[in-house]
Amino acid sequence: MGKSFSLPRGTADILPSDITAWRYLESSARQFFSVYNYKEIRTPNFEETELFARSMGQSSDVVQKQILSLRSQKADAAEDSGLALRPEGTASVVRSYIQNNVDRKESLSKYFYIGPMFRGERPQKGRLRQFHQMGVEAIGPDSASPYLDAEVIALAVNLLKGLGLKGFTLKINTLGSKEDKEAFSKKLREDLKPHLAKLSDESKQRYERNVFRILDSKSKEDKAIVKNLKLDHSYLSKESLDYYTKVKENLTALGVAFEESVDLVRGLDYYTHTVFEICDSSLGAQDALGAGGRYGTLVAQLGGSDNVEAIGFALGMERILLALGKVDIKQSALDTFVIAMDDAAVSYAFHVLNKLRASNISADMHFKGGSAKSQMRIANKSGARFTVIIGAQEVQNKTVTLKDMDSGEQEELALQEAISKIKS
Ligand code: AMP
Repeated sequence: MGKSFSLPRGTADILPSDITAWRYLESSARQFFSVYNYKEIRTPNFEETELFARSMGQSSDVVQKQILSLRSQKADAAEDSGLALRPEGTASVVRSYIQNNVDRKESLSKYFYIGPMFRGERPQKGRLRQFHQMGVEAIGPDSASPYLDAEVIALAVNLLKGLGLKGFTLKINTLGSKEDKEAFSKKLREDLKPHLAKLSDESKQRYERNVFRILDSKSKEDKAIVKNLKLDHSYLSKESLDYYTKVKENLTALGVAFEESVDLVRGLDYYTHTVFEICDSSLGAQDALGAGGRYGTLVAQLGGSDNVEAIGFALGMERILLALGKVDIKQSALDTFVIAMDDAAVSYAFHVLNKLRASNISADMHFKGGSAKSQMRIANKSGARFTVIIGAQEVQNKTVTLKDMDSGEQEELALQEAISKIKS
């Protein structure tokens, strides 16, 4: 017997029985993105590893621990030795924006993407190694507006509400400008210094590498220390505070409820000013549905113009589906199932099947034949609205017998008449 295979750890098959929910999610999202005038972009699933290191920051957890690199089987692997599966969408979208000189063509570009992302994580509920995100990025010299921050956040919230989610909360914060952020990290180091010895080993390293990540730590001892820090916005410039106030006013004007959270920092280097996170406590430990914020320096960091900012978010699709629970939408039913009453009828039935499909009627048939009874059972299981029955009489008369599966009524018709009736 041959070896049998299972899917790789941390991945999932999306089976036909799951597809209705996925389609519902994707089509609702596309509808929202289009209403807000965001256009779809599709970038490759892998990029230069360096792109992710430069954008997310060498010290981020994702780059440190979760990048899935590609290795060629060939001896001469020089060309693709520096490639990795994308752990998120933002870096690729910004890379494409810069590569295509989009800032010379338009002052604000609004993109959305939907697709798989890859992270070498320890799999658990709500945490996979291949998962899916949908997200938006608004990029351009004209993107620095507190109205745009509010638009992007409102889009995420309204999309989740539109899908039927109710129990989630939106948390927002501001990190201020690049300079404010530096002042904040300095202050944070000062405040944490007396507690350094008591921090977890991981946070001891974060203290030097990326002190903000200590605020996201899950370890009990770190949490206790962070709780007593009494974080505030005293390191922010007046301009940054005014910007943040305007974002909050705009959210209120849009009817978007939010909680302010001074310890929300997001662990990636590229965030400045507004950051936000959407959580749903029904999800347990992995409760983040999505997150985002403003990237003041990312475009310049990746070789683009200094005056181009961006803002965006990414929502985790598996998490949204988990939070939605059972999505009660019917799979679109098959229109017809064709039944050949005996072997002699199969060839004509096959011809009818093709004619139905050519008329845009969804149709299927069981080619192995078998008894009329067993085929009727298969037709029933398929959920088809009609069966098209072909026996010796129909072959002789060049007709079909059309049975309405709801009423049980059936009649012999010319194929064209049957097609009209199915379509009516
Ligand atoms: P992040 O860029 O890490 O903030 O991810 C944005 C969203 O993607 C998260 O809030 C999750 O909903 C989802 N997500 C991130 N990592 C994973 C993962 N490993 N498995 C499933 N969903 C994920």
